[in-house]
Amino acid sequence: MILQLLAQLFKKPFTNKHPMKYIPSSSTTFFKDVQNGKVMMNPPVGTPERFRGKIVYETEKCIGCKLCLEVCPSEAIIFKDEEKKIRIYLARCTFCAQCTDVCPVNCLRMSNEFLLADTQKYSPSLIVE
Ligand code: SF4
Ligand code: SF4
Repeated sequence: MILQLLAQLFKKPFTNKHPMKYIPSSSTTFFKDVQNGKVMMNPPVGTPERFRGKIVYETEKCIGCKLCLEVCPSEAIIFKDEEKKIRIYLARCTFCAQCTDVCPVNCLRMSNEFLLADTQKYSPSLIVE
């Protein structure tokens, strides 16, 4: 364990710095200052290889086989009968990537996009179709 702890001293941090150097008295003022270019936010750290971010769906390639629905453990995918296409609710998704692995025509893939926080679980940004 001590060796592991010492090895950590020479590794790069896996997390990002706090988005600002000093905690501002008001976040509203801080974000206004960011908008006006007075202060800079630290950019997010890069994502590692094979990161599982927001799912990308190439609708036109989908053949409507429903295999992705079968494997999805969180029932995040529904089938739109009239169009023979799918809809994914990201608020339910666990980002397990099973749907992307099983799709026979590779029309699903995980992207690097991870800033997905939203107050509305059915927000358009959290629905992929
Ligand atoms: S990544 Fe996993 S949880 Fe999310 S839609 Fe695909 S199979 Fe379902
Ligand atoms: S597995 Fe792929 S082709 Fe089949 S329904 Fe899902 S997205 Fe479409």
